[in-house]
Amino acid sequence: MTPYEVARFKGLKAAQEQHQHLGTLMQDRVAIFDVIEDARIWLFFKPLRNLYGAYERQGDAAGIMVNSQHPLNLQRFTAAHEYGHHVLGHLVSADNEDHIYRDGNQKLQEVAAQAFAGEFMMPIQLVNYSLSTIGVSGQHSKLIPEQIYQLALQLGVSYSAVLTQLVTQKKVSKEMAHRYRRMSPLGIKTSIGGKKPEYSWANVWLFDGSQGGRKIAPQEDDEIHVALQETPSTGYIWELVDSAPHVLELISDAFEEDVDGRVGQSGQRHFSFRVRSPGTGRIRLEMRRPWQTEGQMAMEFEITLEALKFPTGELEEGITVDQRKSIINDYRTIGV
Ligand SMILES: [Zn+2]
Repeated sequence: MTPYEVARFKGLKAAQEQHQHLGTLMQDRVAIFDVIEDARIWLFFKPLRNLYGAYERQGDAAGIMVNSQHPLNLQRFTAAHEYGHHVLGHLVSADNEDHIYRDGNQKLQEVAAQAFAGEFMMPIQLVNYSLSTIGVSGQHSKLIPEQIYQLALQLGVSYSAVLTQLVTQKKVSKEMAHRYRRMSPLGIKTSIGGKKPEYSWANVWLFDGSQGGRKIAPQEDDEIHVALQETPSTGYIWELVDSAPHVLELISDAFEEDVDGRVGQSGQRHFSFRVRSPGTGRIRLEMRRPWQTEGQMAMEFEITLEALKFPTGELEEGITVDQRKSIINDYRTIGV
């Protein structure tokens, strides 16, 4: 093995051992900030200009810094990279984009941390599980950019990070990844939502009838689209039973006829929502005839959501809310 391969192998192995040690369930996105806090590492968010993140260890204390001006999914991946430096026993690192994302950089410490981050956030069991929840199964199905984007949302990492890991896991060829990487996320989001999202940076989630039962963790301003088959002439229509009004705002509810359909023929009922505030709730839809009562529904669709707070709460920078609380508790305990 070349030194490069040895470094990559070290990073991969350390990430797999971490998951074993943590007993990760491999069904939900990896809660990287919680992992860092549980390891008693200080986690700071600060504007860092062109740096993505940094790690430093001094004696017993270790700290991770993440750029507060980046999107949450990018911050999560950066945090995983910095946590990799910690697990791998490195002393210090200041990381720009090359360290976090570019393949083939020469510093072996960075190669190892990069491999750690990919494997820690996207272990194969979690990738396979997440693919099955978005309706992709089997080893040989060819993934399209819209599916890769939805996978990235489910895993809570960037589109680019997922592409890199899918190449490592041989689910996407290098050539394909190169082509997909040049597609703009805004273009993919527009294709998913049917039009440009109101906020270009917001994520766009899409669900069809096969994806009932999913649990998702969107962020403020994200759009959630649910498109379900409906044939109005049968009298059965989808009714919105719960729309988590304290978390979501309903932005549209429209019937879109199939392109070749005649009036009253089948099409899709398309509901779209925007995340307005952090919190938990569900979107529940039931298909029934309007004159029929509860219990007589023909079909149902439900997803549960936990809309995420920013890790620093109301503040734009600083340590995380949890660590702020723990400092206050410590002070109370020692009676200051
Ligand atoms: Zn690094």
